[in-house]
Amino acid sequence: MSFLYKTVQWSVRAVFFVGGWIFELTQRVEDKFICLFKRPEYIRKGGCQMSGMCCRNLGLLLPKAWSRRAWIIRYFVWWHRYRYKFHFLGIVDNLLVYECGYVTKDNQCSIYPWRPRLCREYPKVQLWDFPKLHKGCGFYFIQRGRADFAETLEREKKKFS
Ligand code: SF4
Repeated sequence: MSFLYKTVQWSVRAVFFVGGWIFELTQRVEDKFICLFKRPEYIRKGGCQMSGMCCRNLGLLLPKAWSRRAWIIRYFVWWHRYRYKFHFLGIVDNLLVYECGYVTKDNQCSIYPWRPRLCREYPKVQLWDFPKLHKGCGFYFIQRGRADFAETLEREKKKFS
């Protein structure tokens, strides 16, 4: 009985995972297609400092109208736990906040090669504006066409060293 239950559970999970990959693939194609016509307003710079903040305080945005309906929130919380092992911490405005079950004590991702797309692309470059970053995050955004202050400073420092 327990073997049958586990087989069914893993089969369902496999179907969800494959469905998720196909969905992510279509999103990737869509992003590439849009980039042919419009370049993002901001460019992402910097790199991960492994503070663990984004894995421990993950914020996933829901459309405002959805965040007023308890059953939709329940569904997303279930789905994010089932699909990504994200543990629900609470809701702030229309932001669902989670802690990931895969982050280790030393802020490493225990499924790094298989981490979901949202982690691979974080912080995601958007067409307009840029996502809010945690304090101490090593990433930052600069407006396209503007000089990067940090890079300019580094270049100038090297000149005089
Ligand atoms: S899957 Fe990995 S990278 Fe993504 S939130 Fe969890 S620990 Fe962080």
